[in-house]
Amino acid sequence: MSNVFVSQHPLVLHKLSILRDVRTEPKKFRQLIKEITALLAYEATQDLLTTPVEIQTPLAVAHCRELQEKIGLIPILRAGLGMVEGIWELMPSSEVWHIGLYRDEQTLKPVEYYNKLPVEPTVSVCLILDPMLATGGSATATADVLKRWGVRKIKFLGIIGAPEGIAAMQEHHPDIPIHLACVDERLNEKGYILPGLGDAGDRQFGTG
Ligand code: URA
Repeated sequence: MSNVFVSQHPLVLHKLSILRDVRTEPKKFRQLIKEITALLAYEATQDLLTTPVEIQTPLAVAHCRELQEKIGLIPILRAGLGMVEGIWELMPSSEVWHIGLYRDEQTLKPVEYYNKLPVEPTVSVCLILDPMLATGGSATATADVLKRWGVRKIKFLGIIGAPEGIAAMQEHHPDIPIHLACVDERLNEKGYILPGLGDAGDRQFGTG
């Protein structure tokens, strides 16, 4: 599991326990998704490149560094949407690109129904966002699209991962680091993560 990074941060662990709780209402749930994502993003962006910059303070010139890389956020619809806000608080100029995929009931393969990516990549790093890495079908298909687009540096950010989804990502995209708050036991027969937190989309959008 060398490319899987599971946060050990006490704040992440504490917030995750509230997130999982069946009694947590959508408003609080959305807030927690945002906060946990920001904490995970802080850990996951440690290797972003910076360049030197001179800044005039009120007193003198300070030798500082600024981000060199342009960041793209790719939320997997629909549950990944709530993670965007958490990263925007830290990196407000990140671009958000939407890729719509659904699973064909017959072939069980992801089908792309929305993709307005420009011909040339506009970002150097992409963060794929999905709170639940379950089967890994959407995450691997999204990574395929981003690699075809020409992005070299891709990371996956999720909150809970199932061993099945992690294995799928590692098989298809061993070069993509996976950042999670927790790895759970397994998937149930309906593809939900156990113990998980239920349907992350329904719990955010109040549709459960
Ligand atoms: N998607 C969810 O929202 N929850 C799961 O447990 C698995 C996939």
